[in-house]
Amino acid sequence: MRGTMRLIFPMLWTLLSLFFFWCAFREIRASIVAPAGYDFPAPVSKPYLAVVLVLAVLFAWPPVHTWSFQRFLSAKSTALADNHRASVHCNTLFDTMIDPEMLAAGHANPLTGKIVFQKPWCATLMAYLRHPERASFNELESLDMFTHESMHVRGELNEARTECQAVQRNYRAAKLLGVPDATAKRNALDYYNIDYQARAKIGGMLSAYYSDQCAPGKDMDEHLDDSTWAAP
Ligand SMILES: [Zn+2]
Repeated sequence: MRGTMRLIFPMLWTLLSLFFFWCAFREIRASIVAPAGYDFPAPVSKPYLAVVLVLAVLFAWPPVHTWSFQRFLSAKSTALADNHRASVHCNTLFDTMIDPEMLAAGHANPLTGKIVFQKPWCATLMAYLRHPERASFNELESLDMFTHESMHVRGELNEARTECQAVQRNYRAAKLLGVPDATAKRNALDYYNIDYQARAKIGGMLSAYYSDQCAPGKDMDEHLDDSTWAAP
């Protein structure tokens, strides 16, 4: 059921788009071949043609845009997961409402490689990529969520270790997504120094995503060449 339902909105938009393309096609065809019951072809109504073409393109845009963003994220996530195949899906509001894991901002299935971003986290990540130099904390969180879920696909299940692998790779992840080097480094360090460290003090549910061993030279340091905390 979930699989079918999550297709409905993009499908509805696609069908509306196809309908308006068909209207345009019919109008043009009628100007070349006489319609049934008429002796002569009818001249094209330019305003009508313009309106139906604009509607066709407008309805095609959201599904095409989301589809291409998902493909882009899937490819980058696969690279982050050391080539374990990831496929990212951006949930619509409706998907989120019927998702049994709706309270989690995102989730991943390490067996299938499927990563789900709840509404509105794909939009937040898009916003981050539009202006990474003035990223909000929400936007940095969307970057970390993307890296975190990719680490699950890579095979890690323990949340503290997954999150630590993510904070070390947020610099790499941001660069993979097209963020300029210096900005990517600063964003990744901000997330680690501020957001991540705050969990030690807040405690509660978030403490499952924190370890004091997640630091340069400590147990969870993977000594990556391009680690977020590696000296430049
Ligand atoms: Zn997780």
